[in-house]
Amino acid sequence: MESYLSSYGTINCCAIDSSGNLGGVTTTSGFFFKIPGRVGDSPIIGAGLYVDNDVGAAGSTGRGEANILNCGSFQVVNFMSRGFSPEEACLKALERIAEKSKLLPHLLNEKGLPRFGLNFYAVNKKGEYGGASMWSGRNFAVHDGKENKLRPIAYLYKRER
Ligand code: ASP
Repeated sequence: MESYLSSYGTINCCAIDSSGNLGGVTTTSGFFFKIPGRVGDSPIIGAGLYVDNDVGAAGSTGRGEANILNCGSFQVVNFMSRGFSPEEACLKALERIAEKSKLLPHLLNEKGLPRFGLNFYAVNKKGEYGGASMWSGRNFAVHDGKENKLRPIAYLYKRER
């Protein structure tokens, strides 16, 4: 049990209630080593979390610095307001972040791709939900009102191993 818990950090939870009202929260582990003075993306509205009760809610986990530079959760909600599904909106926000990270070579691997993990989760006003990760191999948890499920998350890049 302890090792299971210790392998997880930040949690984002977005929800819609039976009246159609949206909400969201993002905790933070403070990232590894709890670097003194570091804030991360979780407490920054628009980066680690954004809710527009007319559109949807979105939040993130992963490398906060890359997300803060791009206001990622705001972008996800913005893409949903333009008609994209929650999963598509999360992928489009990740595409932008991957593109912007090309300006910062230390964030890229030998193939010129982001060498960091970042994940978005979202729900829209209709109760449709989705998520996306920079790299393959992750899941996200969903409670659809009846049961809790772990679902594979969409991704931008496939890990080779
Ligand atoms: N996003 C968090 C941060 O940058 C870290 C995490 O998701 O574990 O502080």
